[in-house]
Amino acid sequence: MPGRTDCLTISIQGTVQGVGFRPFIYNLARRMQIRGFVSNTSDGVIIKAEGDNLTLFIDSIRQWAPPLSKIEKIETAPAVPCNFADFSIRQSDASKGFTLVSPDISICSACRNEMFDPGDLRYLYPFINCTNCGPRYSITKSVPYDRINTTMQVFSMCRQCSSEYNDPCDRRFHAQPNACAECGPQVSLISSHGDVSPSRPIEGAISLLRQGKIVAVKGLGGFHIACDAGNAEAVKMLRNRKRKSNKPFAVMFPDCSMVREYCEVSHAEEELLLSPQSPIVLLRKKHIKSLPEAVAPKAGYLGVMLPYTPLHYLLFYYPLAGHALPVPGPLFSALVMTSGNISEEPIIISDEEAIEKLSGIVDAFLVHNRGIFMRVDDTVALVRSRESEAGSQDHQPGTRIFGFSHLTPDPSVILFRRSRGYVPAPIQLMEEGPDVLGCGADMKNTFTLARGRYAILSQHIGDMENYETIRFFEEALDNLRQVYKAEPQAIAYDLHPGYFSSGWAREYGSRKGLRMFGIQHHYAHIGSVMAEHGLTEKVIGVAFDGTGYGEDGTLWGGEFLIADAVGFTRAGHFRQIPLPGGEMAVREPWRTALSYLADAYGDEVMRYLAPTEFARRYGEEKIAAILGISGNRAFSPLSSGAGRLFDAVSALLGICDLNTYEGEASVALEAVAAEGINDEYMPDICFGSAVDVDFSHVIRGIVDDIRKKVDRSIIAARFHNTVAAATIRVVIKLSIMNNITKVALSGGVFQNQYLFRKVCEGLCASGLTVFFNESVPCNDAGISLGQAYLAREIMKAGRHI
Ligand SMILES: [Zn+2]
Ligand SMILES: [Zn+2]
Repeated sequence: MPGRTDCLTISIQGTVQGVGFRPFIYNLARRMQIRGFVSNTSDGVIIKAEGDNLTLFIDSIRQWAPPLSKIEKIETAPAVPCNFADFSIRQSDASKGFTLVSPDISICSACRNEMFDPGDLRYLYPFINCTNCGPRYSITKSVPYDRINTTMQVFSMCRQCSSEYNDPCDRRFHAQPNACAECGPQVSLISSHGDVSPSRPIEGAISLLRQGKIVAVKGLGGFHIACDAGNAEAVKMLRNRKRKSNKPFAVMFPDCSMVREYCEVSHAEEELLLSPQSPIVLLRKKHIKSLPEAVAPKAGYLGVMLPYTPLHYLLFYYPLAGHALPVPGPLFSALVMTSGNISEEPIIISDEEAIEKLSGIVDAFLVHNRGIFMRVDDTVALVRSRESEAGSQDHQPGTRIFGFSHLTPDPSVILFRRSRGYVPAPIQLMEEGPDVLGCGADMKNTFTLARGRYAILSQHIGDMENYETIRFFEEALDNLRQVYKAEPQAIAYDLHPGYFSSGWAREYGSRKGLRMFGIQHHYAHIGSVMAEHGLTEKVIGVAFDGTGYGEDGTLWGGEFLIADAVGFTRAGHFRQIPLPGGEMAVREPWRTALSYLADAYGDEVMRYLAPTEFARRYGEEKIAAILGISGNRAFSPLSSGAGRLFDAVSALLGICDLNTYEGEASVALEAVAAEGINDEYMPDICFGSAVDVDFSHVIRGIVDDIRKKVDRSIIAARFHNTVAAATIRVVIKLSIMNNITKVALSGGVFQNQYLFRKVCEGLCASGLTVFFNESVPCNDAGISLGQAYLAREIMKAGRHI
């Protein structure tokens, strides 16, 4: 303890850079008459402090630290007094280590209040920001994070702005994007023909939206395509023009009370909506009041966000001519705000590209001249359901769900897509290691740079089949490598021979002379959980997803692995089933359902088609043809994918037999599953050298229930219970056989909250310790973290694979 020492060196670790930490220390020190300096270092902040009450000073740092900061550790050491005259902020030394770039942060309440205050300098100015809010990563071209290295470089600050910028007591001290209407960026409205509206662009855009038109809005990390979410015609038109699928649109509500009218919102969900990261939060739809079905067809959830830039707030609350102040209420109950892109290409960031590619979709463009350097999509998150909160209180003493990880302080938050607001904040690893690049998978691609004690995950890159996506991958990689001064010595990628990401990795790796590691897809899923929790010892890994390339050349996806940080064995899996037509079966789950029926009934399958809709919908001839090719491995690869099983059951129940977007059938199946059903079907589990979980009896049970006209919500619940119970039985058996008590759950199927909750509760009740993804998505977006972590651990162990 410092006690009476009157000169200390204080080093602080954690998230303390780019979050207004140094001005906070400066002001605190001045107030407490402490002399010395504060400076950024490679892994935090260092303070030299001389004064009378340093203990109180340190306590105050802990107590009053800025909202976006997170102190992990404060260390003090006595220092030789230097007789400083005052307290100052010293230039950081960027030559050593790396300085962190902060993620983009939603507008703070102070800035929002100023923006709607007619007496304020920045009244209705759409680019208002301060040290506590505004763009960061999306405008940063290089480090250190100074205005000259951002897209704000082209605007020179007026006298008022620069005096704020230079005043350590001002909320805008060193706020790099600081600007006002006089000196900063401006918005303009462009018609789909390219005509620029001369004045009042925001009012013009609002007026178009109110007429049911579609407007592209340039945001923080890219363009959104917006329309009035309450206008069924507008939403339908947008769906027809932009998307041929049923993929849900995200919506932006003006405030929480409006969200509550349409969705169930828990306290934790409200907190997440209002957090500085402002992600899209998946909320349960209410049935009393709803937005048009075309916003999110068949889904039980709605993707909801609140305004997170000043411009968003202006779209909802602009004081239109004739309206008295204060502004009466929001102009829209909600706006659809879907990513501005076409056919799975990366989100668009430049005005030119938007006009070129989106002209056929939108009626106008609300653009601005603050450049976006790094594209960053919206993050998508979900708070684990209330049933799960209630359930966890019933756990037996001594059992626990592991929840704590420092970058997602709330373990009940799970990320489906980790992007704006979260990237490029690093994920802390438990140990040091060589720099490694993990290239991810082809769907929902991200990459990970493992660097020292950090793993830096890229933003959502997208599906790697487009040239544009691969270019974006390279841009983001160049940027993050430079920012974090990473020099990968090895590169890790998926074993899939046809993945673009793997081809890219092998080419890049051999060009740069890097060590190369092909990491099996499901092992990488489990590796992502191990990385988050610092596990290197043996775990039972349960990896459930749609399909991933297996070591034996078949498609895996319902996997039980015994894994540690340097290798794994496939201890069991779901029974393999042919996917008639391969990729076709992924898009058309009814084909997979046929395959499961054939597996359950053999030659008699045609007799058992009657309870399903398939014959009527697709014709017996087509069905016979599909059954005919299911024995041919060239056309019908074998798959153990858990996601495929969920797809098949969804199709059998007539809930969804075509996937117009990935996971649609499974999402729809989860949405209908009734709560409070506890019985299940009986799978056959064969505990041989590798465990085989055979669902053919389950399929028969489901067909019987369909014939008995059991409600499909009950069948869906029973099916979920079945998969959970089978999983729990297998894991418990493997735990006893191998004397392992730690279980890691990952893979996109665990986005299914019904399944996740049941599996977790069952395993915990058996005294096992369950680990799962908290800081990264459990879907393929988390793969790159697992790849990088495992390759690094294998290198450290001196193994070769
Ligand atoms: Zn602010
Ligand atoms: Zn200014």
